[in-house]
Amino acid sequence: MERRRVRPVKEGKRGRGPVLYWMQREQRVRENWALYFASVLARESDVPLYVCFNLVPDFLGALPRAYLFMLEGLREVEGELAELHIPFVLLRGQPKDTIPDLARDLEASVVVTDFNPLNIVRAWKKEVLQRLTATVFEVDARNIVPVWVTSSKKEYGAFTIRRKIHRHLPECLGEFPKLGKQPYLGRTHRTCDWEKLFAELFPEHPKLPCTPGYAAGMRALREFLEERLPHYAKQRNDPTVLATSLLSPYLHFGQISAQKVALEALKFREKYPESVDAFLEQLIVRRELAENFCTYEEHYDTPSGFPRWAQETLKAHRNDHRPYLYTLEELEHAKTHDPLWNAAQRELLLAGRIHNYVRMYWAKKILEWSENEEEALRRAIDLNDRYALDGRDPNGYTGIAWAIGGVHDRPFPERRIFGKIRSMTLEQCARKFSVERYIARVEELSKDS
Ligand SMILES: Cc1cc2nc3c(=O)[nH]c(=O)nc-3n(C[C@H](O)[C@H](O)[C@H](O)COP(=O)(O)OP(=O)(O)OC[C@H]3O[C@@H](n4cnc5c(N)ncnc54)[C@H](O)[C@@H]3O)c2cc1C
Repeated sequence: MERRRVRPVKEGKRGRGPVLYWMQREQRVRENWALYFASVLARESDVPLYVCFNLVPDFLGALPRAYLFMLEGLREVEGELAELHIPFVLLRGQPKDTIPDLARDLEASVVVTDFNPLNIVRAWKKEVLQRLTATVFEVDARNIVPVWVTSSKKEYGAFTIRRKIHRHLPECLGEFPKLGKQPYLGRTHRTCDWEKLFAELFPEHPKLPCTPGYAAGMRALREFLEERLPHYAKQRNDPTVLATSLLSPYLHFGQISAQKVALEALKFREKYPESVDAFLEQLIVRRELAENFCTYEEHYDTPSGFPRWAQETLKAHRNDHRPYLYTLEELEHAKTHDPLWNAAQRELLLAGRIHNYVRMYWAKKILEWSENEEEALRRAIDLNDRYALDGRDPNGYTGIAWAIGGVHDRPFPERRIFGKIRSMTLEQCARKFSVERYIARVEELSKDS
């Protein structure tokens, strides 16, 4: 294992107690470097390994369907861990209370946890660290090249980060070791009553747009590689054709590993070199650029995180006449004058996703139809975080900051409202794909729901 994936975040007492892995973002058993590191520590010290997950009552406005998707995945995690003799503890409450309490109850000697750049999670971690007495390690099991290995600063764009990532890929993009059965069993094994939990949290059992969990995620990957990958390079920007992987919800919840996805995609490189390279550019470079942005820019969700030129141009165009101004409710319920935008918003409501190309248009129009960039950013984040299954993710904050605030982009010729921010129009979209066909596809979704 690449040891630079791990960094100590607290030097505490190293007793003889078990190792506790606080699973947070990497919600899987296989191909999970953080769990693997925790299991190695436990074996080296001849102590049991425990895994816990803390369920908070609200996470950035996520809808019940996002909770259901996540908890179904965690139910699968518990089963797989049991086969490896690793007890899984589902905690409920605020991490600052639940994690230190569990670590104390277990007399844990070491706590291992996932790296996560989001401010809310950093704040939890800070509070947890203050109350823990054990030694704590953080592992970046999300990025193929750990975010702190790629770069120690905020990168300008794909063109600066690409070579930094590629330089480290040979040593980081390797096969995963197998996680064997743990030889030492823990003294308690509090199993979770999933049926009771689901009945309590989801009395109306929300409909899920795709099956959750590791097994389903790997099936989705196989389907993509065998059926759609050949068309990826040419058709990934056409929302009327199903050419992309649809893996973002699985990647977001850590139900599958991006490194595993990349290794599987590389097996097709000889057959479809152009498509595999285009896919890896998104999966590795664009995704890890978003991680870099949220790691090194604490204002990733406000206009203070925009580049200076973008802040200035948006300020200069604040008082431009805006022919259409919509309320958040009108946007939320897809009640604008623009049929393409309404279809995109309806796709978000119904399926919890928007195709990447239309997603750019969707966010840019929110800028055009809001009082100013602050309001636009807030609204786009609110809708994306609430309704997108893959929302509440560095990719989301970065994608929205790109669309509204020119992050990782360059200045364009100046125009109304947008200033020098790249704009997108209905006419441009109509030249790229059949808007009517896209709208008809979304209509089909509403018939299914
Ligand atoms: C306004 C806006 C909001 C976005 N919000 C989110 C979000 O909340 N969550 C999210 O995961 N992605 C977000 N994206 C990025 C992108 O839209 C999705 O990752 C992609 O559409 C997911 O579909 P897919 O898995 O079929 O992608 P594929 O094309 O198959 O790509 C494979 C994987 O690469 C990564 N990826 C693809 N495109 C991008 C990109 N532009 N930036 C960073 N990573 C990328 C994703 O992890 C994706 O699953 C946003 C983009 C924009 C412009």
